[in-house]
Amino acid sequence: MAKREIVWDLSEMFPSTTDPSVQKAIDDLTRLAENFAERYQGKIKRLSPKEILECIKSFEEYFAKLEQIRAFACLSFRANMTRPDTQLLDDKVNKTKARLDKTLAFFNIEVANLVHENPGIISEQILQSYRHFLERLGRESLHYLSEVEEKLMIEKDQFGIYAWEELQRKWLNTRTFEIEVEGKKKVFSFSEAAGLLSNPDRPTRESATKSIYVLLGKNGEIFASAIRNICNDWLGVCERRKYGSPMEASLIANDIDQQIINNLLTTVSNHTNLYHRYLRLKAKILKLPKLGGHDVWAPIPDAPQTKFDYDTAKSLVIEAYERFDEDYAFAVKDMFAKNHIDATPRLGKRNGAFSWDWYEGKSAFILTNFTEDLNDVYTLAHELGHATHTYYYSRNQTILNCGTDWTQPMIVAETASTFGELLLTDLLLNQSKSELERKAILCVTLDGGNVIYTSTIRALCEQSLYDTIKRGEYLDYKTICGLWVVARDKIGDDAIEYFDEAEAAWIPAPHYYMPNFRFYNYPYVYARLFVYALYQKYLEEGKEFVPRFKKALSAGCSISPVEIGKIVGLDVTDAHFWELGLKQYEHFVDELEKIA
Ligand SMILES: [Zn+2]
Repeated sequence: MAKREIVWDLSEMFPSTTDPSVQKAIDDLTRLAENFAERYQGKIKRLSPKEILECIKSFEEYFAKLEQIRAFACLSFRANMTRPDTQLLDDKVNKTKARLDKTLAFFNIEVANLVHENPGIISEQILQSYRHFLERLGRESLHYLSEVEEKLMIEKDQFGIYAWEELQRKWLNTRTFEIEVEGKKKVFSFSEAAGLLSNPDRPTRESATKSIYVLLGKNGEIFASAIRNICNDWLGVCERRKYGSPMEASLIANDIDQQIINNLLTTVSNHTNLYHRYLRLKAKILKLPKLGGHDVWAPIPDAPQTKFDYDTAKSLVIEAYERFDEDYAFAVKDMFAKNHIDATPRLGKRNGAFSWDWYEGKSAFILTNFTEDLNDVYTLAHELGHATHTYYYSRNQTILNCGTDWTQPMIVAETASTFGELLLTDLLLNQSKSELERKAILCVTLDGGNVIYTSTIRALCEQSLYDTIKRGEYLDYKTICGLWVVARDKIGDDAIEYFDEAEAAWIPAPHYYMPNFRFYNYPYVYARLFVYALYQKYLEEGKEFVPRFKKALSAGCSISPVEIGKIVGLDVTDAHFWELGLKQYEHFVDELEKIA
């Protein structure tokens, strides 16, 4: 029997991409935006608190409608990118959004300026549910420039700083890499070559690693130029916008303070022994005296070749969530029941996986490319965690407090998703029938947990780029490689043996090249360790933890990440806090050590 295709049903939003109701919704939205602008532009500073509330509410009404049309267009397109109807709609909605964003750009700026000039507004009783939203805008407003300067920045960035990211992406996507796969030479694109880094065959991994890094290294000065210009540009931006440090913009976006991040990165740097223990265990499992840089992503040998069909994966994830709490699985079950998941890979479908909020429906849609591997079951558990988070906050918050688009800090966004992975690990370990199976589950879990260390390397390296410039030194290729190796060895020490060419490992990941978006890496470390700490709390408190966790997820971004921690009894401001999260990582290493 042919496998049934798992396709999502978007018809709750609109009947089809070509239905007249879609164009009508776009027209209505445009009118809503124009009316809003007519009513409020240039007038926000003179509004009473009650009028401010009305203004925010009507912005939210518009915003929820925009998000629904955007969800429908983007999702239709990403599931079938080669279809003319989805291309057309996606393009139309993107252009509409760009136009309306410009029409309504005054909203954030005027509200922020209002808070800046009249900070007392934040404490107005009538605006209580938007208190934190206003606080955040106030914090941002300190770094706004004049309207003309802001416009100039946007115009000059478009063909200036954005070009470096394009150059890096274009370069990677137009190169080919010659690699020996199981003894046979073949030519691969960059993404295919990168995929071979987790090939079970060691010589294949070695050939892929060398092929990638040799070619990157040969062109190293090009990437050094990009990084040098991006970092110098950013230091200029920071001076103009009066940021105290290159990291500050990222701290504001993540709604967090420098000291907490310093504590986080210091704690990880001081506890690399746990990482080394895992790396040595992995070497032992791979029957190697020492792990090579090209073995880090290797699958464990002789792992049971278990395949999980979609229905099995579905019942595993539901069971994992139900074991935590019957009611906590309601979103997961609803997502399956309503066909909000597009799981089957097909030509023209976007790769990877994501969960997309649908605020108007108080639900979400998940795109994934399910191929029946253990990793795919984890991806499903992860994305359904995002959906669960959405179900909680969209039922308890208005849209601006949900954290759609720019408002949700990355450090909070991954809470329920990572937690869902841990629930799955717990279930799978409980059901495992052999040591080999346990080994495979623990290695997949720890490979995921390694982001604590690998992203710390990237954060430390990024910091050192700015320090180097400030010391008056020049960032050429070899200098950046040197900084990378120092950061890498500070965390990995001698637990991994790298090829010399791997000094170019800072080049391929896109994060360093993203314009005006610095320090993109520590949020991964924060998110993972915060959830590990949550899990420790759950193990300690059992069922008592459940209602507090639901309350934390329900908060969306109506309160700060520090306040969210407090709901579940965690104090992220405590210098020793992050050690609690590392205990969970250590627990997995201990479990693996027993059977490795
Ligand atoms: Zn995620």
